[in-house]
Amino acid sequence: PKRMAVLTSGGDSSGMNPAIRAFARMAMIKGAQVFAIREGYNGLVNDSIVPLHWGSVGGIISRGGTIIGTARCADFRKRDGRKRAVYNLIKNKIDNLLVIGGDGSLTGANLLRSEWCGLIKDLVDDGTLDKECIEKYPTLSIAGLVGSIDNDMCGTDLTIGADTATQRILEAIDSILSTAVSHQRSFVLEVMGRNCGWLALVSGLATGADYIFVPECPPEDGWEQNMIEGLERGRVSGRRCSLVIVSEGAIDKKGNPITSSYVRQTLENAGHDARITILGHVQRGGTPTFLDRYIATRMGVDAVEYFYSTDEKDKEPALIGMDGMKVTRSPLMDCVKTTQSISTLIQEKKFNQVVDLRGS
Ligand code: ADP
Repeated sequence: PKRMAVLTSGGDSSGMNPAIRAFARMAMIKGAQVFAIREGYNGLVNDSIVPLHWGSVGGIISRGGTIIGTARCADFRKRDGRKRAVYNLIKNKIDNLLVIGGDGSLTGANLLRSEWCGLIKDLVDDGTLDKECIEKYPTLSIAGLVGSIDNDMCGTDLTIGADTATQRILEAIDSILSTAVSHQRSFVLEVMGRNCGWLALVSGLATGADYIFVPECPPEDGWEQNMIEGLERGRVSGRRCSLVIVSEGAIDKKGNPITSSYVRQTLENAGHDARITILGHVQRGGTPTFLDRYIATRMGVDAVEYFYSTDEKDKEPALIGMDGMKVTRSPLMDCVKTTQSISTLIQEKKFNQVVDLRGS
């Protein structure tokens, strides 16, 4: 039988558990033996690899986070750490690996795969592995699912955890607005997203925010006056509160940060009773929404199909994502590279190109 393993790496996100469950159970249905690698790449480097059974993933579909643990692992960034990872995979006879994480984790997975044969040869040369391993394990199959609350990867319309994070933000905004309306206050709300404004944009759309700041589309110079006038027009037309959403990576046209405290100060200087809420880690967690359970389950199932595929084009590492409500496979490193080039374009203030690329 095929032997396959799953690990979660980088920041946790809600929906990782349903993905682990779907992957493990589908693999078992197909007759594979499934393993969990604990605490991200640490488990690979230190041989914390445990078999999964039908019951070990029971009752987790509704739980946020990841039951197998996630971590950042400095050792895996070094060739020597990856050599230990290869040794531990072969010791456990595993040559199919599902990685659930962000672009960093997926880059690491791709690197492991590209060094696979060379590292096996090193292990054979220093007498750690038998010579027959070279022929027995010609390649490491890699599939990647994106676990990220930020929805910041190319190759999928939605990353696992982004919908749940949005739901948490909406709940917070709805509560805040009820007090804002009562007191005729203005609220500045800071949300996560690193250099991706998706969480700010869609939560602003779903709550009717007055003003939204995102990294990809900085406001024109003089935006302070523009914002104040916009909010005033709302008040004149009968609105009893104002809501401004600031993405944590928001910048102006010169690339300087637009912080939530600066926005609040600007409003206060214009006579607003302005308050600030920085949502922080509540956005990350909690019960996964329907959509996160749905996409995680479908992606987890497709990862198993991918490992069983005999199609030649499925030999390259795949990012399994969603295109609308359809599951898709894309070349993993193309997705990582396009994603990373967006960060570079933002740093270089080439905002028009950023908006074009976000679409992909
Ligand atoms: P994310 O996957 O959420 O982007 P990180 O960038 O922190 O999170 O990556 C998580 C882990 O993946 C790192 O701690 C490291 O072990 C591994 N990793 C990330 N980038 C690389 C890389 N270029 N080479 C090898 N391993 C990497």
